[in-house]
Amino acid sequence: MTLLPPTFSFSQSSLQAYEDCPRRFWLAYVEQLPWPAVEASPVQEHEAVMRQGERFHRLVQRAEIGIAPAEVAAGLEPPLSGWFDAYLAHHPDDLPDAAREIERVLSIPFRLDDAATPQTTFRLAAKYDLIAVEPGGRAVIVDWKTSKRRADVSTLRHRLQSIVYPYVLVEASAGLPWGPVRPEQVEMRYWFTAAPGQPVTLRYDAAQHAANHARLQRLLADILGGGSEADFPKVTDTPANRSRFCAFCIYRSRCNRGAAADDLDDLGDAEDFFAVDLEKALEFTLDDVEELAF
Ligand code: SF4
Repeated sequence: MTLLPPTFSFSQSSLQAYEDCPRRFWLAYVEQLPWPAVEASPVQEHEAVMRQGERFHRLVQRAEIGIAPAEVAAGLEPPLSGWFDAYLAHHPDDLPDAAREIERVLSIPFRLDDAATPQTTFRLAAKYDLIAVEPGGRAVIVDWKTSKRRADVSTLRHRLQSIVYPYVLVEASAGLPWGPVRPEQVEMRYWFTAAPGQPVTLRYDAAQHAANHARLQRLLADILGGGSEADFPKVTDTPANRSRFCAFCIYRSRCNRGAAADDLDDLGDAEDFFAVDLEKALEFTLDDVEELAF
């Protein structure tokens, strides 16, 4: 498929969109329809939630680079003040501290074994909240989550984020000052404002790395094998899929999958609300990540 922008990099968001609903990928990343004329609610409410999440990430970023917590917390109001207090009280205390990467984008070339396109190598990128490394020892990926509820382990394990982040880290690490990193050294830690004392840790190993490579090969081959909207079908129309995927998708009117969104309180994971921010969706371009180019 040559329909994607030439600078397009695959990311956990776009791959998750395809896996959840191929039509979603088509509308968001090929047609690039960020905001169809949808009824507003609960988009504005969701945007407010997303803005708070982004602010929390900036607060944590400042604290992680060493700015005094009192200075970072000055003037904060709920819920951010409570979230930041929780971060201070429940900051993971077992992280390696020889090297820290904060808000780091890593990008790797990903070669398709059986590409049906003239182009055979594509980019795969990930943006990390925090990578804490002990050269030759552990490499812990930390992701701060501000969702209303703590996601369960099996949900997290199947998310593309849990596939793409460790995969890209291992593949990119040979070119980094603290690399290379073997899969067995890597763990993914999800930390929740909703349950700050109960982070979820996913271990990684060579078998998972090989399985992830195969899964990414399949996913990219599927996506790149499609040439028109018909190749990107809507998720099957069942009550469960409507509730899980369409109810919080900004394309539901266009897809005739219900006029009104469900209540945001029913949304377990903020990432299940699908509203494309094109700036973010296309943030990983060749220009942005030239230092880790092919
Ligand atoms: S509304 Fe449903 S079918 Fe349409 S793009 Fe969204 S998830 Fe897919």
